[in-house]
Amino acid sequence: MNGSGNGSGTGFNTRAIHAGQEPDPATGAVNVPVHLSTTFKQDGVGGLRGGYEYSRSGNPTRTALQEALAALEEGGTGLTFASGLAAEDTLLRTVCAPGDHVVLAGDAYGGTFRLLSRVLSRWGLEHTPVDLGDLDAVRAAVRPATRVLWCETPTNPLLNIADIAELATVAHGAGALLVVDNTFASPYLQRPLTLGADVVVHSTTKYLGGHSDVVGGALVTADPALGDEIAFSQNAMGAVNGPFDAWLVLRGIKTLGVRMDRHCANAARVVEFLQRSPAVSAVLYPGLPGHPGHEIAARQMSGFGGMVSFRLAAGEEAALKVCERARLFTLAESLGGVESLIEHPGRMTHASAAGSPLEVPADLVRLSVGIEDAEDLLADLEQALA
Ligand SMILES: *Cc1c(COP(=O)(O)O)cnc(C)c1O
Repeated sequence: MNGSGNGSGTGFNTRAIHAGQEPDPATGAVNVPVHLSTTFKQDGVGGLRGGYEYSRSGNPTRTALQEALAALEEGGTGLTFASGLAAEDTLLRTVCAPGDHVVLAGDAYGGTFRLLSRVLSRWGLEHTPVDLGDLDAVRAAVRPATRVLWCETPTNPLLNIADIAELATVAHGAGALLVVDNTFASPYLQRPLTLGADVVVHSTTKYLGGHSDVVGGALVTADPALGDEIAFSQNAMGAVNGPFDAWLVLRGIKTLGVRMDRHCANAARVVEFLQRSPAVSAVLYPGLPGHPGHEIAARQMSGFGGMVSFRLAAGEEAALKVCERARLFTLAESLGGVESLIEHPGRMTHASAAGSPLEVPADLVRLSVGIEDAEDLLADLEQALA
């Protein structure tokens, strides 16, 4: 409804700028307006003008973002939410029922694991973390009650790679849905629906927004019936994003392609630099031929992304020092913005995983490589590692 810009047949960057984003028919405004009105005038009782009645149920700014995301992920239905976790919660409580079971990556995003282990477990939804790189282990973890196979690739912060097409086969053989959290790659580098996934999840807070100034989430599916079910839940559960937040993400995705090209190029320079540093014992990046998931990543992604993790030869203290000495790389959680960030997963983003199977090495540092000048980023890492 409301805008025919599904963008089919046009290139990715053209879709990012135009899909769902026709000039406003009322005013000619080239950019989609921020529609703050919560309610819409009816022409006679129940006679809706543009298909809108109340802003939780539907909002024109949100519609534009949803159509753009559906076009970028090559799915028919896009739905956006207040956060990535709000999207995840809505999806899981739509496709699962108490007594069902979810298989997820052993190194899934910590918030996904917490949602399942601390919140949805009380609702009767069970889960099993497995290494998604081990297909026999995945098959062994699947039960008759398994409704969802939850994949994240590349993972956070270890940058492991899972084979989306293979996992789709396993999931569908078991009568389950394959859900892929595509936050790290973004649709510019990887389109899971074209590889057999049923639903794509995003934290639009990261690369899609791209400027570290808006929290949001999205779900995209190519299955119209499933799209309708999730759309029902979006309204019934109400975890929607506001119109200004939708507009900020829409503004961010217009430059997704050029930003991702630069994130990838800068990450490649950073990786090359880190590999030559004697202080670094290992560099984790799917673009490296020695990375265990390199071949799969090269097949299913069109670039290797802007996230780089590395381990310090001298251990945890050295890792903490690097994080604290970095200047241009800002010490902060989150990722995917234009500015470079550095963090210590063991003490920061993944602190809650201590003592669990999801625990990360203490000597690990994670970088979200931004789009500044590569020379300046390398100079900062050089002084931080000295
Ligand atoms: C940040 C993130 C989420 C959660 O998204 P929020 O917008 O913070 O709720 C989910 N998955 C991944 C991979 C993330 O990085």
